[in-house]
Amino acid sequence: MMNHIYMIRAKKLVTVSDVGTIDDGAMVIKDGKIQSVGTWQQLRNQHPTIEVKDYSNYALTPSFVDCHTHLLEFAPSSLYPITNETQALAGKSLLLKALTSGITALGEQVCGHPKSTFSIDDYRKIVKDIPMHVSFAATSISIGFEKLAHFTAITMAKPVKQTDLVDNHIVNELSVQSEYPGENLFINATPANFTKDAVPRSGEIIYTFNELKHIVDRFHKQGKQIGVHVAGEEAIQMTLRAGVDVLHHAHGMMNKQMKQAKAQGTKIVATPMGGTHIEPNSPENILELVNNDIEVSIATDAYLPPFPNVSWLPFSNQSLQGPDVLMKIAEPAMKLLVKNGYNENQVLALITKNPAAILGKEDRFGKLDRGMDANFLIADGIPGIDINDVEDIKVVYFRGKEVVSRMN
Ligand SMILES: [Zn+2]
Repeated sequence: MMNHIYMIRAKKLVTVSDVGTIDDGAMVIKDGKIQSVGTWQQLRNQHPTIEVKDYSNYALTPSFVDCHTHLLEFAPSSLYPITNETQALAGKSLLLKALTSGITALGEQVCGHPKSTFSIDDYRKIVKDIPMHVSFAATSISIGFEKLAHFTAITMAKPVKQTDLVDNHIVNELSVQSEYPGENLFINATPANFTKDAVPRSGEIIYTFNELKHIVDRFHKQGKQIGVHVAGEEAIQMTLRAGVDVLHHAHGMMNKQMKQAKAQGTKIVATPMGGTHIEPNSPENILELVNNDIEVSIATDAYLPPFPNVSWLPFSNQSLQGPDVLMKIAEPAMKLLVKNGYNENQVLALITKNPAAILGKEDRFGKLDRGMDANFLIADGIPGIDINDVEDIKVVYFRGKEVVSRMN
């Protein structure tokens, strides 16, 4: 709709920008973008006649960004008995699930998968008409079976040799195809979604320092940032030394490494639900990262079985969890941050503004500010602080349009 303009009013508007929280706040939305943000009184005086959507009993915040997911390639066959004919359909249903959970932007990994014949371009086509923003990372993956298994987004369903992971052609293609620094390579072999006995070599370090440095330099030469899947002190040290831009998981990071990460501007994508061979990011670990002034995002890595026997997770078994648990897995860390004096804007940034920056979209979405896409949600309270259930997210807006509603 051209020239569509309206105002939106809320009890509390958490902007996640420098303005902070505005009580009895409002925004003017024009053509899918935020035109202005202020108090209701202020904006109503300026615009006395335009249509008003009144949510004055609700909180309004930016919608979520989950910058590390596997919804299109790995999840479909883990969740459904699909074939190649129906894989895209399953993927789309998972995107809808994410959207109804308040997520309007995703960072999707394409790793190569033995049962999927889809290329990264095929995945791009799947998301084309979906009212969400999806950024893709082209990656390789190493799975910690007795005999290690390696795949890449470029070679797709065909397994590759370990030496192929550092092949110049493959590395170049991965950097060219990547839209953002996802887990472009697995420094440690992953347990993926397998039980411990099936993946005895998970955690094993796959690259030498020189190999890693070579790959990092190739990405940087293409003008691309690089992210990696990494856990454990030794592997993390190697990534810091090699100049990796984004560490996904970073489970087991030491305090002195956090100081080094801060000094280098390295960003961290924490996955409190699991994803590596060692215990995932605890609320205390995330607090420590934030205290070290590192830009931290929280992501689901969905679909994923929750790491067993972890006190901060609300799950009673290891069944696969999806993007709908983002608030639930972020909540313990978010509440601990509030307890330690961080305000709701700083805390909400971990699932909005910071992951938007990982996707390179900090000027497009992730906060409520003039000129940004009108991607936001209406909820019964502040997500991750007052609420953790997707049913409490009442309306989701994407580029100014209502795309999810649980009103009446
Ligand atoms: Zn992952």
